[in-house]
Amino acid sequence: MDRKRSILIVGGGTAGWLAAAYLAKFLDLAKHPSLEITLLESPEIGTIGVGEGAFPTMRTTLQFLGIDETRFIRETTATFKQGIRFVDWLQTPTNGHRSHYFHPFEAPFYTEEASLVPYWLLQDERERRPFAEAVTIQNRVADARRGPKRPEEGQFTGPLNYAYHFDAGKLAAMLAERARELGVRHLDGRVTNVSLRQDGAIDSVNTAEHGPLSADLFVDCSGFHAELIGGALGAPFKSARRYLFTDRALACKRPYPDADTPLESFTVATAHPTGWTWDIGLAGARGIGTVYSSAHLDDVAAEQVLETYIGSKADAASPRLIKFDAGYREQQWVKNCVAVGLSAGFLEPLESTGVVLIEAAVSMIAELFPHNGPIDAPAKRFNALMSARFDNIITFLKLHYCLSRREEPFWRDNVDPGSIPERLKELLEQWRYRPPNRYDFILDLESFAFFNYQYILYGMEFRTDLSSGRADFPNVRAAEKLFQKIQMFGERATAELPTHRALIEQIAAAA
Ligand code: FAD
Repeated sequence: MDRKRSILIVGGGTAGWLAAAYLAKFLDLAKHPSLEITLLESPEIGTIGVGEGAFPTMRTTLQFLGIDETRFIRETTATFKQGIRFVDWLQTPTNGHRSHYFHPFEAPFYTEEASLVPYWLLQDERERRPFAEAVTIQNRVADARRGPKRPEEGQFTGPLNYAYHFDAGKLAAMLAERARELGVRHLDGRVTNVSLRQDGAIDSVNTAEHGPLSADLFVDCSGFHAELIGGALGAPFKSARRYLFTDRALACKRPYPDADTPLESFTVATAHPTGWTWDIGLAGARGIGTVYSSAHLDDVAAEQVLETYIGSKADAASPRLIKFDAGYREQQWVKNCVAVGLSAGFLEPLESTGVVLIEAAVSMIAELFPHNGPIDAPAKRFNALMSARFDNIITFLKLHYCLSRREEPFWRDNVDPGSIPERLKELLEQWRYRPPNRYDFILDLESFAFFNYQYILYGMEFRTDLSSGRADFPNVRAAEKLFQKIQMFGERATAELPTHRALIEQIAAAA
């Protein structure tokens, strides 16, 4: 680094503090006096405070930042997440008959010679096990309320792939502490307005508390306020409303009835007539929120949906209403400003893609950071890669809705071909004759792999017809043996792994 470079991050939510800690660590701030990173946040505005589910990528991020897993679990009341259970997404429950399927983090089991997926597809539909149960042991382990690892296993590793559920406010506080340790300067203050230079770049953000603050690079992490990227620079917002209809959430916390109530290690996502409800088991309480489309349901009726789910009035923890527009900015890096987090875009809470998008953005900023020369050199590439990521997530999220056989208008509207992205329509057409494959996707642009698509497709009873090519899959006996082994391993793992609650309690006690 030849000349002094300064970065000013506006916003102290998950996006702001993760960006601060990650950049400080990656750019080795403590050892480079020529670099300066400052974070400005407004405690009076506060953070959004939701976002309780993560991706397995979070393990790598925490490890990179030098945050101990035990400390993370204790300080953010975190639990393990092995996937998502989808309830009632396939059809409207009738006469007490409900459908459900599991989307685990583990990839389907495969051997060097072959994938098990075609063999599962060729089995008798009436007799075969549900897809996730047939091809991984994780479904069984999670159903039995077992954790993905043993307490004595090393930090961030275990026999099964996992992520976490956590308290978003506590995570931001923990990241803040780490960022300050790594040399980030922290200012409390509110951006009142932004001064632009003649070329349209940001000259300074102005605050009552600290006057004008200037920097080489401004990172807009101001959440839905989008003070810099939207307010000052006017980067247009691209709506995804024609594909994704939900735009409201009502969120609350519920205590457990007893201290030893079993802890689920998956998010439960239960469909309702106009959207779905998340249910996340944290160590001290459940985080519950209902997501809906305001075009199909008003806010008062939504409270009733939440109350029906909870089984009582939301009482003291009266639910908090959060409004959002599904969409993103195609220009997330404009001149000397880059947006990260909700200011860049948000689609909806399904599949918990908020933090993974933040991780993708900050690692790209860190790796492409221009130590010399024009500060906006990475902008074009960054914008193309982030836009593709958002578009691909839209495709994946829409898959959850467009295969539903539910009868209510919200769900029928979701099945309307006009609401399905062209790329998804093309893929669905191909997947009628073959399962999703790694060549369907470009890894660097994706947050989900081909097997994530397989779990949703086959969980939703999508039909891939391989019957005319049955002869191409001659290893039926070997495959059957493998299916049996998976069941056996599942039983063994269930017997050997601790319960999820015992695992969390043991980790917390060890701390
Ligand atoms: P915020 O948390 O809103 O932080 C914004 C910051 O900017 C605050 O510090 C605020 O004080 C500051 N600020 C704003 N204006 C100013 C100003 N003028 N001056 C100074 N500071 C200012 N993501 C997941 O990964 N998993 C989930 O399960 C998930 N669920 C979600 C559910 C809902 C209903 C919603 C809406 C989002 C969910 N998300 C989820 C997304 C997740 O919440 C966000 O990605 C994450 O919290 C990052 O938020 P943020 O830091 O961008 O914004």
